[in-house]
Amino acid sequence: MRPPDRSELFACVGVAGLGVSRRSWTSEVELSEKRLNELRAEVVPKGDPGAAGPRGFRRLRTAAPRFGRCTDCWLKPGLELCSVCGGRAQIFVSDAARPCGCTSGYRTCDSCDGTARAARVVVEYFEDRAQPFAHVFFPDAGAAAITAMQTFVRRRLSVPAALRIRLDDDFASGDGYRGGNRGALVAGARLGSALEHARHYVERLRSLPSIAAIEFEAHAWPFSVLSWNAGAVAYAACDENGQATLLV
Ligand SMILES: [Zn+2]
Ligand SMILES: [Zn+2]
Repeated sequence: MRPPDRSELFACVGVAGLGVSRRSWTSEVELSEKRLNELRAEVVPKGDPGAAGPRGFRRLRTAAPRFGRCTDCWLKPGLELCSVCGGRAQIFVSDAARPCGCTSGYRTCDSCDGTARAARVVVEYFEDRAQPFAHVFFPDAGAAAITAMQTFVRRRLSVPAALRIRLDDDFASGDGYRGGNRGALVAGARLGSALEHARHYVERLRSLPSIAAIEFEAHAWPFSVLSWNAGAVAYAACDENGQATLLV
């Protein structure tokens, strides 16, 4: 087989990580002074991509809460109808009536803690959830090369550490050997607009109001476009084990 007449080395840029999406909503509630002080002491932390599960936070939105008569215990100050027995003071276990743990069908009012005084305030609630994201950006290597490389990259189970890059590194843009300024290079491979697009993608994620934090890794995976004067073209890359692979 004849060696190719031209061989060009490109690299796609992959970005993968975790983004913390933050949902928030407000609700008007009545709170006792004790609960209001507890709420004032709470802080809404920064998003944590490493959190094991969803996390919830609250914050007081009312600037100057005013106390008045609690409206949840209007009939019996400090007491509300028991939600377990519905006020009957009895519960039924296997058809036998047993006394409920409440006092004659009433329990201490949850809103005012039995004080009959409460402030109606607006509370903002937050829920953080870490979600994975991944995207691969390609230089202008031609549609067929990009399709072949997309398929190859999707099948990779891991990214070799040697391919990791830092998106904020200042990659040299072009060199004399390649005949001028033709896009960023990583170890001789052309990244072209892929690097710029990856940077914009990450910046956009960071600037979204619904994203509380992101954590990610980036890599540049090189691939070759080999072409022959007779018109034949082939694409090649090394897989995660260092095995050269012809892309189809
Ligand atoms: Zn009860
Ligand atoms: Zn109350």
